[in-house]
Amino acid sequence: MTITMRAGGEIDELLRKVEALSSQNLAGCYQCGTCAASCPLRGSMDLPPDALILHLRFGLPGVLDRQTFWVCVGCDSCVEHCPRAIDVSKIMAALRQISIQESGDHLALAQLPETALRRLPAIALVASMRRHTG
Ligand code: SF4
Ligand code: SF4
Repeated sequence: MTITMRAGGEIDELLRKVEALSSQNLAGCYQCGTCAASCPLRGSMDLPPDALILHLRFGLPGVLDRQTFWVCVGCDSCVEHCPRAIDVSKIMAALRQISIQESGDHLALAQLPETALRRLPAIALVASMRRHTG
């Protein structure tokens, strides 16, 4: 596998933004994988939480193209189990915020099928809009 790293400045920029927004020090992660093992949505993610952190730390490309941080529901199971007290949920929230800032809203009500709009409880729609839009 060929691994292409981003240019130094870009690594620093995304990592710096995530650390500033989440107030977490990603260098503290020692890649034990406990967050991934305790995540109920791991199977729906395109990159497990521990790998996402590794990608951020080493500046691997495409982090903001991943779906992992959109799939995360902020249940905090990973936070409770992390032996390094890293709040992975806040890292996911920071990535959502950066993605929205850089690329715009992740969800548009107008794009949802009418059947879904009729079926979904209002609270689910409100919660979803709060997570997916700026
Ligand atoms: S549980 Fe904590 S230390 Fe372990 S991989 Fe996840 S974030 Fe890193
Ligand atoms: S907060 Fe997100 S990443 Fe952590 S266990 Fe819950 S869904 Fe998974």
